[in-house]
Amino acid sequence: MQNLASNLRNWNNLKEGDSILAYSRGEFLYLGKILCKTPKPNQLLAREVWGTNEKGETWEYIFFIKDLTKINIDRRKFNSFFDYGENNNPFGFGLVKKEKLERKLKGFKSIDDLIYYLNNDYVISDEELEDNSYQTAIEEKGFTNIEVDITPDPQPIKKPTTIRGQKVWKRDPVVAKRVLKKADFKCEINSDHITFISNFTNAPYMEAHHLIPMKYQNEFPNSIDVDGNVVCLCPNCHRKIHHGTNDDKKELIQKLYSKRFQMLQDWGLDTSLENILSYYNIVE
Ligand SMILES: [Zn+2]
Ligand SMILES: [Zn+2]
Repeated sequence: MQNLASNLRNWNNLKEGDSILAYSRGEFLYLGKILCKTPKPNQLLAREVWGTNEKGETWEYIFFIKDLTKINIDRRKFNSFFDYGENNNPFGFGLVKKEKLERKLKGFKSIDDLIYYLNNDYVISDEELEDNSYQTAIEEKGFTNIEVDITPDPQPIKKPTTIRGQKVWKRDPVVAKRVLKKADFKCEINSDHITFISNFTNAPYMEAHHLIPMKYQNEFPNSIDVDGNVVCLCPNCHRKIHHGTNDDKKELIQKLYSKRFQMLQDWGLDTSLENILSYYNIVE
């Protein structure tokens, strides 16, 4: 943090175990807890780590964060819950006033509880919840009229729909159909993986999975429901990428990421392996 009176005041007030939210471009993206801070403002360390701005200032109010959790809370949602103005921009280092927080905490067990409430209430596209209907929609009407050779091109983000009061990012079955057909109905982890013949389509039964999970659509400037981000998996690998041990998941994700790296770029999706792993709660 930079050398401002309000920053110093806020930094002095920080205590181990306090909750902290990280904000970027319209969304709160992480919830964490204060692990510790430097014993006093430390310009030397700050310059080593972050350098200085054009005025020669650095960010000497240093603290460390633990227990990072990925969240997705829209700024407007946060502003209206905490009675800030609609256009309030959480710029820099801010504090929710103690009295306000105590008032808002009524009815919640803890701050975490409150944050999860705000989080769940907003956009969630839970693949686990909606997956059955999606995989069925992919099989429907077969694959005969599906053209597989399309040129990669970044697509605009689709508007979320509301299902049972939750906002859900739409997934287009035609994208998945193209991916499955292009993969020749073979598992992209290993083409020898055994599946069965679908009664519906007479083709080997395969499932579509979004490598960058749909619920992280907010973090990308282009649609992630595109050929470059969808992979064809046998049912076993598909369950494994959702329910396997972290080591197993990591192996699958690494493999798919290296296969898809160029395609993701071509579809306007620039992201690192570390980022994708964090979406699956795998932190190095
Ligand atoms: Zn999946
Ligand atoms: Zn497989």
